[in-house]
Amino acid sequence: MLKKRNFYINGSWVAPKKPNDIEVINPATEKVCAVISLGSKEDVNDAVLSAKEAFKTWGYSTREDRIALLEIFYTLYKKRWNDITDAIIQEMGAPKDFASKLQTGTGASHTKSFIRYLKEFEFEKPLGEHAKNQRLIYEPKGVCALITPWNWPMNQVTLKVIPALASGCTMILKPSELAPLSAMILAELIDEAKFPKGVFNLVNGNGAVTGDALTSHPDVNMISFTGSTRAGALISQNAAKDFKRVSLELGGKGANIIFKDADPEAIERGALRCFRNSGQSCNAPTRMLVEKSMYDEAIERLKKYTNDFKVDDPKKEGEHIGPVISETQFNKIQTLIQKGIDEGAKLVAGGTGKPDGMNEGYYVKPTVFADVNNRMEIARTEIFGPVLSVIPFETEEEAIEIANDTDYGLTNYIQSKDSEKIRRLARKLRSGMVDVNGAGIAVDAPFGGFKHSGIGREAGKEGLLEFLEVKSVGGWS
Ligand code: NAD
Repeated sequence: MLKKRNFYINGSWVAPKKPNDIEVINPATEKVCAVISLGSKEDVNDAVLSAKEAFKTWGYSTREDRIALLEIFYTLYKKRWNDITDAIIQEMGAPKDFASKLQTGTGASHTKSFIRYLKEFEFEKPLGEHAKNQRLIYEPKGVCALITPWNWPMNQVTLKVIPALASGCTMILKPSELAPLSAMILAELIDEAKFPKGVFNLVNGNGAVTGDALTSHPDVNMISFTGSTRAGALISQNAAKDFKRVSLELGGKGANIIFKDADPEAIERGALRCFRNSGQSCNAPTRMLVEKSMYDEAIERLKKYTNDFKVDDPKKEGEHIGPVISETQFNKIQTLIQKGIDEGAKLVAGGTGKPDGMNEGYYVKPTVFADVNNRMEIARTEIFGPVLSVIPFETEEEAIEIANDTDYGLTNYIQSKDSEKIRRLARKLRSGMVDVNGAGIAVDAPFGGFKHSGIGREAGKEGLLEFLEVKSVGGWS
């Protein structure tokens, strides 16, 4: 069992002020794989002080110095690829190939992309040709609290840590207490790359104590949070007291609108996108809206696809899904599947209970409900498990209305061959992202949501801007 009790503060690994152990559970085995500590208010104070001191110099570091250190970090990240992948497999149960290519892979792609944007970014520029003595200066926001969840651990950590480093901010990262191991490897890489002490700090802990201490600390200037809408609202209340900048990436309940002229494979592709990562993606297309004239055929295809869909041990190679993160999450998903049955949706595949022969581990059966009404709980709540709700529609207007009738607004999906229709819908869907015909959203395209899905954008140039304040100087000469 790994012993990972220390925090990374002011350039060293230090013991917590008060011992407060918590076990990290491997969701595939239900066994303890590591022990970490939950940070106290005092640990948070030390980390914030260290970041505040480091900002006095790092906040004025040159772009060249930051590029050089990030490039060293990127090289080291690639060397530790397999270690990061193994940590992700253990801490959150992502299957080997998926964990390597996508989970660890996105960390590398974001790092590479942010280095490119850092090289190009204009930190100082005139307001315009008409006002050359008016100068805009982009400056780092200061000390940042970065709080991340467990479902895409390295993706979410790099979406925050790398642009914060690139912009000249200093930071305290609090990764999810359920999946902290890959983030601790990232801290080792930052140490090895020799970023100045205090620029990056890591304190493990829970939301109620460690997260709360961080987000209410008066010396924290910005909070970047990814996680539940519930925690996002609490964090915003803490931030409001002293007007901290806040960026929130929250939940989703994406609609995947499938028109009868779509490529037939769009049905299976939609189910795969819903089930992948065991349904634990905020941008998963969990509501499949199918045009009535092809509805029966779609349900037949989904039944076959889902019954054949593999759930297996994450240590194995190949295309399958692993367990969900925890017993709590397993139970929540079971309750929601039962709720779907009770509310009268038609169970087409899957259902409650574990897949046959998989008694150990938090494995969930990939599940499809047909004849779902958009008012049912399974259509409104973010289940965060491999559960797909299929809803029929007749007209384009009806599809848009159903898709937009949700508290969330992260990613919606359109499947059709009609370009005019695609453009009309892409403009009318109330979400931060629209993915057409499986094209995907680019790694450096702005990632974020409307409505309860959050505030702000991550990735690429927009993601860098989140960590910068703009200053206007008049009379520049
Ligand atoms: P969570 O909100 O319980 O926890 C996320 C992180 O916030 C953890 O580090 C946790 O310790 C911390 N936290 C919890 N309560 C806090 C509080 N009051 N103050 C400060 N920190 C607090 O969410 P989760 O269960 O870990 O993650 C799943 C949720 O995250 C889902 O709703 C999912 O949609 C959302 N999510 C969104 C995105 C996105 O980019 N939009 C990405 C991934 C996950």
